[in-house]
Amino acid sequence: MRLEGFRDGRLVQGLAGRIRSAAGGRRFRFMEVCGTHTTAMFRHGLRELLGGAVDLLSGPGCPVCVTPNGYLDRAIEIGRRHRTLIATFGDMVRVPGSESSLERERAAGLDVVIVYSPLDALAIASENGGRPVVFLGVGFETTAPLVASSIVEAERQGISNYYVLSSHKRIPPALKVLALDPEIKVDGFILPGHVSVIIGSLAYETVVRDFRIPCVVTGFEPLDMVDGIYRLVRQCVEGRAEVEIAYARAVTRQGNRKAQGLLDEIFQVEDAEWRGIGPIPESGYGIAGRYAHRDAALAFPVSVDPPRDHPGCLCGEVLKGKVLPAECSLFAGTCTPETPVGPCMVSSEGTCAAHYKYGRKA
Ligand code: SF4
Repeated sequence: MRLEGFRDGRLVQGLAGRIRSAAGGRRFRFMEVCGTHTTAMFRHGLRELLGGAVDLLSGPGCPVCVTPNGYLDRAIEIGRRHRTLIATFGDMVRVPGSESSLERERAAGLDVVIVYSPLDALAIASENGGRPVVFLGVGFETTAPLVASSIVEAERQGISNYYVLSSHKRIPPALKVLALDPEIKVDGFILPGHVSVIIGSLAYETVVRDFRIPCVVTGFEPLDMVDGIYRLVRQCVEGRAEVEIAYARAVTRQGNRKAQGLLDEIFQVEDAEWRGIGPIPESGYGIAGRYAHRDAALAFPVSVDPPRDHPGCLCGEVLKGKVLPAECSLFAGTCTPETPVGPCMVSSEGTCAAHYKYGRKA
C-alpha cells in the first residue's frame, strides 16, 4: 500500500467500527508508550473516534520528558566549570533544570549550540580544535545508534575534543516497571515504531511472558495506529498476550542488527534514573569503558546539588499515565508551551504539550 493509503479516512473509520464491535461493550485501557504516538493520535482525532471502547493513556516515551533534572544540572555545571561548548537537540534548551535552563544559561554567556545530529556536534568539535565539545546524548534506542556512530567517527578521524554526556534510555525495562504498578493497570501497550525498528519486536517478549500484557508495535499513520489498537482489542477479547507487529513495512522481529552491534560496541547497559519513575535497573546506556575518554561525566567531573523538582508540576505522574495534564493545577495557566514549568510542556512529544495543543478543543 502507498503511504496515502495509511491515511485513508474510510479505511480508518471502518477499522474503528470493527474495534467497537470487537470490544462488545467492554472498555479497554491502552498505553501509547511513545510521545510521537500521543501527538499523532491527537492530530488525527483517534481519541474521539475510539472513545467508548478504548481509553488511551500516555506513557514515558518522550526522551526529554523522562530526563531528570539532575542530568540538566550536571550539563550546565560542566559548561560553566570546564568552559566546554554544549551541543544539544533543540528540545533540551528550554527544559527547566532545578535552578536554570540551557536557554537561560546561554543568555548569561554559556556556550550552547543547537544541532540536528550528533554528527553536527562532531563537525563543530573538528572546527574548534582543542575546545571541548560536549554533546547531550538524550534519547531512546532510536537516537543512541546515531550517537554511537558519532563516537566511532570521532575515533576514526582522531577528533579528541568530542565528548558525550549520555542519558540514553531503553524502553523494555520501563515497560516492566509500568506493568508492575498496580495503580496503572493497562490492558495493552501500543509500542513505539521507531524504537522497534532498531530493537525488533523480540525485545518485548519478556514483557509479554512475565506480565501477560498484550503488545502491538505500530507506526504513526492513522491506519497503522487503528490497526494496532484493533489487534490489541482482539488479543484482550480472545485472552491472548503476545507481541504483534502492525508496522511490518519498517519493523522486524530481530530489528536492525547493525545498529544493535553499534550499541553493543559503544555503550554498556546500566541502571538509569527516569523522571517520575525513579531508578530502573538496566534501563540506560552508559558509555562503555573502552570509550571512557569520550564520556563527559568522567572527563569533566562536577559536583551538583541534589536535584529539585518544580513545585506543583505533576510531570512524573503524567509520564506514568496516572494523571492527565488537565489535573495539574498549572496546566494552561502558569504552564503553557510559551512558559513551560515542566518538560512535558516543552517537548513537541510531551503529553502536556499535546493536550494543550489538541486536547483542549475536545
Ligand atoms: Fe508539569 Fe506543566 Fe505538565 Fe503541569 S502542565 S505537569 S507543570 S509540564
